[in-house]
Amino acid sequence: MKHVRHGENCIWRRVDKPAAYGYHRIMKENERISALKGIGEKTEKLFQKLDVYTVGDLIRYFPHGYDVYEPPVPISEVEENHVMTVSGAIYGRVSVGGSPKLQITTSYVKDLTGTLKVVWFRMPFLKNMLAGGGQITLRGRVVRKRDGLLMEHPEIFYPPAKYREKLDSLQPVYSLAKGLTNNGIQKAVKQALSSLEFSEDVLPSYIKQEYGLMDYQEAVRGVHFPQEKELFYKARERLVFEEFFLFILSLRLSAEEKGRMLNAYCMRPQPVMDEFIQKLPFELTNAQKGAWRDVKRDMDGIHVMSRLIQGDVGSGKTIVALLAMMYAGLNGCQAVLMAPTEVLARQHFHTFEEMFRQYGIPLKVELLTGTMTAAQKRSAYERVELGLSQIVVGTHALIQKGVTYHKLALVVTDEQHRFGVKQREMLAQKGDSPHVLVMSATPIPRTLAIILYGDLDVSVMDELPKNRLPIKNCVVDTGYRATAYTFMKKQIGEGRQCYVICPMVEESENMEAENVTDYARNLQESLGGNVKVACLHGKMRQAQKDEIMLAFAQNQIQVLVSTTVIEVGIDVPNATVMLIENSERFGLAQLHQLRGRVGRGAHQSYCIFMTASKSKETKERLDILNHSNDGFHIASEDLRLRGPGDIFGIRQSGVMNFKLGDVYQDAAILQKAGEAAAKTLKKEESSSVKERFLRILWL
Ligand code: ADP
Ligand code: MG
Repeated sequence: MKHVRHGENCIWRRVDKPAAYGYHRIMKENERISALKGIGEKTEKLFQKLDVYTVGDLIRYFPHGYDVYEPPVPISEVEENHVMTVSGAIYGRVSVGGSPKLQITTSYVKDLTGTLKVVWFRMPFLKNMLAGGGQITLRGRVVRKRDGLLMEHPEIFYPPAKYREKLDSLQPVYSLAKGLTNNGIQKAVKQALSSLEFSEDVLPSYIKQEYGLMDYQEAVRGVHFPQEKELFYKARERLVFEEFFLFILSLRLSAEEKGRMLNAYCMRPQPVMDEFIQKLPFELTNAQKGAWRDVKRDMDGIHVMSRLIQGDVGSGKTIVALLAMMYAGLNGCQAVLMAPTEVLARQHFHTFEEMFRQYGIPLKVELLTGTMTAAQKRSAYERVELGLSQIVVGTHALIQKGVTYHKLALVVTDEQHRFGVKQREMLAQKGDSPHVLVMSATPIPRTLAIILYGDLDVSVMDELPKNRLPIKNCVVDTGYRATAYTFMKKQIGEGRQCYVICPMVEESENMEAENVTDYARNLQESLGGNVKVACLHGKMRQAQKDEIMLAFAQNQIQVLVSTTVIEVGIDVPNATVMLIENSERFGLAQLHQLRGRVGRGAHQSYCIFMTASKSKETKERLDILNHSNDGFHIASEDLRLRGPGDIFGIRQSGVMNFKLGDVYQDAAILQKAGEAAAKTLKKEESSSVKERFLRILWL
């Protein structure tokens, strides 16, 4: 028996674990992860890249998906770009080729329906193992190479009975940083879970009871290492509920605190603005006029503005924001616009500068982003602080400590679904209760919007500019790819431009970059030398991204192959074709946003949803997009069609960036959490609720 030692931070106790684990030190959530066995300084640094610093952060570093060990499929039914399992006999000769650095073992597996080529990398010893022939089960990604489909580097189950043990189990898949493996993270989480003393459950017990929610500790375990699907759903539900509950509570409490603040900014009429609107190359839509009227009324009113403009993609929200910012600027105040990506911030910056120059508006625009050099930032800070620039556009860099504003009267956030309320508040706190304007292209059904945006007045822009032709859509399988390329070529011949959203690779971000580059190279080959194809992905340096976006905007590049980094906001009206590969992997709302990159000008635009999936559900989902260009309709259909099963495979809609919860998918939980938050506030004094949640809420 080992000694049991008590100490301040260091208590030893026996835990219910296999003998091999022996004794575990009991840990607290705020301990550094280097307290875990096997995590040294180097690994700790890698985890920090994932924002995991403490043991508590680690157990809240949830898997982004699960590997489901599904039953084997007949070889004739394997699908390109999917991880699949097949079971059959090893067929023919096993050979080892490739180079000494990268040996490639090649074999074939055969069942009653067909034969599939299989390759492994750097595992020449497999030759002997497989040479004996016999039945085998393989699980790996199926890809298309020149000579047809093949399975790459599969996991081997030999004999196949070994697979049966894993069948239907869920293996957590974590997002990785370079140098960390999925297995490594799994191990660290396991260790943390077995030695952690959990802090007190934040959900009041009456809420847990009423809504049938499990304990925090059990839920965390259940989400990392689900024993079975049903328990996983319950575990996830509990954590999502908590996430929504805290979010709604913080909204309500801060709204209560602020009350309706008085408007300290006196705005005088600005005749220049009406002239500006008159001179625009287009007439504002009625929806734009209405939104601007609402905003102006707020800014002239007794109370500070808190307004959300909700308008479908392409409805022209930017110009409304610009008007509001101009109004503040011409009145001697400052206005700030925060965009979620650097690409988008720069686009707005250029648009505004160009418009002011063209129409002789005497306002100066400043850009403030994270990738600017220290010297550039310093001089920008200075101009902002002295009030030499009236309009400031940027990314998160706008809320950094070093930035001081000068009479900041208006704060605008574009594509709000990318920000938390927290960032919006932080920006607002940079001023002295400035007006707040939030712009969102995410058509959230009204019932949910009331919960999520309870603190805002809403203007809806439900009209597209008159010159727009509805986008023509089609849903096709991968056999149509060549035809799609020909079509793109024809459009380019007519002077137009195209986007291609590349297939996604889940494994690692590095592969994503490689994938986009490869795809672009192949596409360049198919389209020929007269067309310029370029690619864009998250791993590129900002300067490179800017260069490419600028060249695309000026039509020096005709086809942009990209990951979803172009999802929000980008405005190149000359682009008329959007081709989305693997469209089954996206949520409907996200697909709608992507499609919104085309159909922004007077030319007929097209969206091609490509999918290799033959499933009926996929067809049904994509059909909704095929037949509707209306974001609100799509959002409500998305809600109707999504079930808990979708948690595997489909990416989150990205609305408001919750860690686990998804506003669409978890709409029912959101409703309940809203109800529960209201009950809690009614039952308890706000001050005691606040005290209890202070640790967690950002109030
Ligand atoms: P979103 O609402 O998606 O942010 P934008 O503000 O980027 O849309 O506008 C999309 C495009 O439509 C821009 O090129 C913009 O100049 C143009 N636009 C905006 N309003 C009108 C209008 N009333 N008539 C014609 N084009 C417009
Ligand atoms: Mg926009």
